[in-house]
Amino acid sequence: MKPFPQHLLSITDLTRAQINALIDFSQPFLDLSRDDIRKASTMRGKTVINLFFENSTRTRSSFEIAGKRLSADVINISASMSAVQKGETLMDTGQTLAAMRPHVVVVRHGDSGSCHFLAKHTQGTSIVNGGDGAHEHPTQVLTDLLTLKNAWGDVKGKVITIVGDIKHSRVARSHLLAAKIMGYSVRVVAPKTLLPLHIEKMGCDVFHRFEDAIVGSDCIYMLRIQNERLKTNCSFPSIREYHEAYGLNMARFKLASDALILHPGPMNRGVEITSDVANHAQSQVLNQVENGVAMRMAILSTLCGLEAL
Ligand code: ASP
Repeated sequence: MKPFPQHLLSITDLTRAQINALIDFSQPFLDLSRDDIRKASTMRGKTVINLFFENSTRTRSSFEIAGKRLSADVINISASMSAVQKGETLMDTGQTLAAMRPHVVVVRHGDSGSCHFLAKHTQGTSIVNGGDGAHEHPTQVLTDLLTLKNAWGDVKGKVITIVGDIKHSRVARSHLLAAKIMGYSVRVVAPKTLLPLHIEKMGCDVFHRFEDAIVGSDCIYMLRIQNERLKTNCSFPSIREYHEAYGLNMARFKLASDALILHPGPMNRGVEITSDVANHAQSQVLNQVENGVAMRMAILSTLCGLEAL
């Protein structure tokens, strides 16, 4: 297997063998996270900085818990409490933190390409993309792949139907790239206003009617409308009409009732998903969260060159 890269900026930084290795490496961390004492010492002496310029519940806390469970020193910085408020540039903030010699900096930023920019302009630290604008979210997709592999055994040949604001979703984009590496197929469902132009060139099947896509899906992956990235609010007539056309409700779910339901969170219940479906036994939403900690333990360990618990 090729050595792991220094940074994790895009899912395409990893080969299929490396993704499978991270999935395998996560399994003992899942067990550790279910033990009474949820602590190992493998990352003692390692420093992880969470640098978050955008809001986050899951990604930030799971990187923090992941680092702490492995005894790393974890520092959280949010833009609202940092010198960014005093006019400091992203480059200066990144170089300042890198000068403190952390092993890993996890970055979330509203601009696409910001993590690549920091990786280029800092030295001696691993940069992890914790979500950059509408571009990519590789650690979410790795978490999803762990969840799906543990449910199915293998994702190869499966059909994942992604529904909602595809245009502004970094999760959708990373899945479209991961599908080619891992051998699953992706259907996307959205109104034309929430689809990037020429998306079919990324190798997916495009649908505008939810019912047409749902039959034959192995997984239905629901997305939140990324209001913070919508330049105007005229992508659809109203939330009520959006929900009627693109919301996952029980009647639609019955068209593929063996499918797993995924959502990266945060969910807007009553908009893209109804509560009865979100709480259904096929829903993997909380498994995704649990697996997210184990996968991030595997990612941090691997980037620090540690391969065993
Ligand atoms: N948590 C995911 C992200 O940061 C999805 C979302 O926010 O809707 O991209």
